[in-house]
Amino acid sequence: MSLDVKSVRDDFPILARQVNGAPLVYLDSAATTQKPQVVIDAISDYYTTCNANVHRATHALSDEATQAFEDSRFQVQRFINAASENEIVFTRGTTESINLVANCLNNHLHADDEILLTYLEHHSNIVPWQMLAERTGARVVACEITDAGDIDLDEFSARLSERTRIVAVGHVSNAIGTVNPIAEITRRAHDEGALVLIDGAQAVAHFTVDVQSLDCDFYAFSSHKMFGPTGMGVLYGKQALLESMPPWQGGGEMIEHVSLQRSTYNRLPYKFEAGTPNIAGAIGLAAAIEYLNGLPREALKKHEDDLVRLTLSQLKQIDGVQLIGEPLERQSVISFLVRDSHPHDIGTLLDQQGVAVRTGHHCAMPLMDRFCIPGTIRASFSLYNSEVDVERFIAGVAKALSFV
Ligand code: PMP
Repeated sequence: MSLDVKSVRDDFPILARQVNGAPLVYLDSAATTQKPQVVIDAISDYYTTCNANVHRATHALSDEATQAFEDSRFQVQRFINAASENEIVFTRGTTESINLVANCLNNHLHADDEILLTYLEHHSNIVPWQMLAERTGARVVACEITDAGDIDLDEFSARLSERTRIVAVGHVSNAIGTVNPIAEITRRAHDEGALVLIDGAQAVAHFTVDVQSLDCDFYAFSSHKMFGPTGMGVLYGKQALLESMPPWQGGGEMIEHVSLQRSTYNRLPYKFEAGTPNIAGAIGLAAAIEYLNGLPREALKKHEDDLVRLTLSQLKQIDGVQLIGEPLERQSVISFLVRDSHPHDIGTLLDQQGVAVRTGHHCAMPLMDRFCIPGTIRASFSLYNSEVDVERFIAGVAKALSFV
């Protein structure tokens, strides 16, 4: 089954708009994806027809809202093939999911233990671990990458030891698109007795993720990078681990019983969901999952891969373009520089032609330092991009070059 790109584009109303007098070419989906009408409608329908707080319901609206909210958890469970709905914790996004884990593992770490990251990580998969290390006396160490931007697996194994208690790695690099061999990394980390957290922010929109076959202990992702609303995210965690972790935020919903002397905590996953949750966010995320499930996922990935291949081959023909990172396996992200010009100037020149890209360090400063550059121009692709987008982008880069 192939992907009908025209019909997919029609699902996203924003793609019909003009920017600076030209039709929008949106190549910034790694920052956030656009939303299909079905997601916008699901959120609007919730507020229009059954807005109420969830759980402890004694009235019809609250029942309906609770049903929709918990249906979303079920959808997420099936989307990533988790073993149980108890393993799906709703959060504000990838960042909060990682912070949750880092905050609940204080007792798992002791002085001189190690948390192993890589040079590819997004700041949200670095800083929470540094904060955990500060609290516990543990150390953050990082695995080198090759000049092409791949994790060096030999180096990774060499960095692993009995001191390694946590390995935290991105599934796909948001800065240069590297797809990491997560199952292999997890296997090696488990052999040393380490827990494994995968930052899946840039993976779930592009290919099928099965947390049971990856065997990772935690998997974090954001709704807004997979066609759902902002302010909504997911932490998957193996049930036994989540059971063993203390709650991190206190408040309503996460308790079983409260007296002024002490409180007992709710069962999973509510133990980790203090306060009124993002109900509309969960409903929007469920609509996004349903939307994705209705598309041929294999064909979708092939479509994005074809666009990236086409763009790469054309970019390489432009004199003055320098690609940053040429990973063995790449997903939907291309980073590059243009002669000596500042990435921001090229981004502005592209914007003037209606082409939206992102410029800067992409919240991956250690990676930029590794390549000895302050930042890049990043084009990131999604299922709604077309060959016309590639043509307009390449023409835009060529025109920008003529100005610099
Ligand atoms: N990790 C990666 C790889 C990302 O690309 C991002 C978002 N750019 C994040 C984590 C953080 O996601 P959020 O801002 O949605 O929490």
